[in-house]
Amino acid sequence: MDSPSIVIRNALVVDGTGRQAYPADVAVTGDRISAVGTVAVDGNVEIDAEGMVLAPGFIDVHTHYDPQLCWDKLATPTPEHGVTSIIMGNCSVGLAPVAPGAHEEVIGWFTSVEDMDADLLHENVSFGWESVSEYLAQLRPGLGPNVGVFVGHAVIRAYVMGPASQRRTATDEEIQKMVDVLREALEAGAFGLSFTYNHLDHRGHELPCHYADRREIKALLQEVARADRMVEVSPDFRTNGNAIHAYDLFGELSLETGARVTLSPLLIIRGNGWQERLERLEMWRAKGAKVFAQTQVRPLDMTIDLSKGSLLFGKTPLWRSIMDQSVEGKTALLSDPGNRDIINAETDEIAASVRNLIVRTTFSDRNAQYVGQSLKQIAASEGRRLGETLVDIVLADEMRTEFTLTGLVHADVNAVATLLKNPAVHIGSADAGAHITAFSGAGDTCYLFEKFVRSEKLLSLEHAVQRLTSDIARDWGLTDRGEIAVGRFADLVLFDPETIAREPEEWVNDLPGGGGRYVRKARGVSKVIVNGQILLAEGEYTPARSGQLL
Ligand SMILES: [Zn+2]
Repeated sequence: MDSPSIVIRNALVVDGTGRQAYPADVAVTGDRISAVGTVAVDGNVEIDAEGMVLAPGFIDVHTHYDPQLCWDKLATPTPEHGVTSIIMGNCSVGLAPVAPGAHEEVIGWFTSVEDMDADLLHENVSFGWESVSEYLAQLRPGLGPNVGVFVGHAVIRAYVMGPASQRRTATDEEIQKMVDVLREALEAGAFGLSFTYNHLDHRGHELPCHYADRREIKALLQEVARADRMVEVSPDFRTNGNAIHAYDLFGELSLETGARVTLSPLLIIRGNGWQERLERLEMWRAKGAKVFAQTQVRPLDMTIDLSKGSLLFGKTPLWRSIMDQSVEGKTALLSDPGNRDIINAETDEIAASVRNLIVRTTFSDRNAQYVGQSLKQIAASEGRRLGETLVDIVLADEMRTEFTLTGLVHADVNAVATLLKNPAVHIGSADAGAHITAFSGAGDTCYLFEKFVRSEKLLSLEHAVQRLTSDIARDWGLTDRGEIAVGRFADLVLFDPETIAREPEEWVNDLPGGGGRYVRKARGVSKVIVNGQILLAEGEYTPARSGQLL
């Protein structure tokens, strides 16, 4: 036997299958696990893992790192949290295929659906490609983690139909072209196809998916099924009825085509009908449909700062056009007395979330009194409308006021745990790489152990690892990953089960051009190994870039 490249000694192996943890050495040769048990030979690198858990690398199926990978092929900070494989291109937005004149449109969808900054993307996404195969060829070299790329249905539809993609159903000929483009993308190595019914674009129009009829969707799903890949759908959750419609449509189409479909996100919000969606999901699964849902681990807490982007304010026309402006433009529109009535009326439409914004940081003497209060409390005590209350606060702070939204979405730990344990539901939905001025979507993996395993004792260590690894690998078709066994890819994470946790959210100005985002560091994660190479050691990235396309 050649000497292994790495031997990890005396680890507590949690192998991903749910089997009880056991002490063993694990050897890595090349990109694979070459021995599990007692390893007699020395490795080129020896790691003493006494007291540590060795698990398969975690899989994060729901990220939006597509733009970030144009300047950061590590997808920071996600690997720091033990993640060795990410899937991106979710929710119908991706960077290919894109016609030479359509870059603006694609960037617009990333800004509207994922809260990204248009200037950042204009300056740092080269669009040195047109087809998915050209895009993947540029993406592939130098990846930190493994990366799977969904092709966005919106992007394919716009590529084939142009502006008509946001106006009408497709002709037979157009459907055939979309199928051909999709086939080519899947043959080039795309991971699957994604849809969204949940977002308006930067001009306030429904995204192209909204205009696709059943036969178009069915034709595309047939193609995905033929290639044995995955479909991701973000159902319209503006009303529960619309969401249920998506569960039924994709449940039925999965049954007819054999395509595997994941619906994301399934979040626990009082009155949003999540139990009904889960029942529908289970009904379609009982009939034989290969449908799954995705849920996330953490409560959906976020910071809202109107000087930046915000997913709360994209739903009504005036707020959307205000949020599109620079800080000066926002200030001008919010100060214009002619806009007051409309702002008040539009704010009432989105009051369910806005009234719960809590003032966290203020910058003017006038606003200091409000710190810690919700907008609802402030408006009530002053006898004023919600909209004008909000506007006067942010104008006094020159738009810099920071609000938090916390404890409302996905905050019921026991209910969340029932979803985390449900085999029809995968852990995902975390949105890392998106909404970066509102929250860090990275960190949920560590939080699962910190909160649900250690503090609440709602999942065992073995079960938590299984949920982040083999369950996903099996259901999503990630061959040879998600398990510690001889012959599998050596995607591994070594962590301290007593201390693994996510650190608090922190604002860092590390984007190209000096812009900022929220990130989290990990605690208790010692080593992260991707395809047999150490990517992270004690929180520091090594020069290894061994990630592959999934
Ligand atoms: Zn998403």
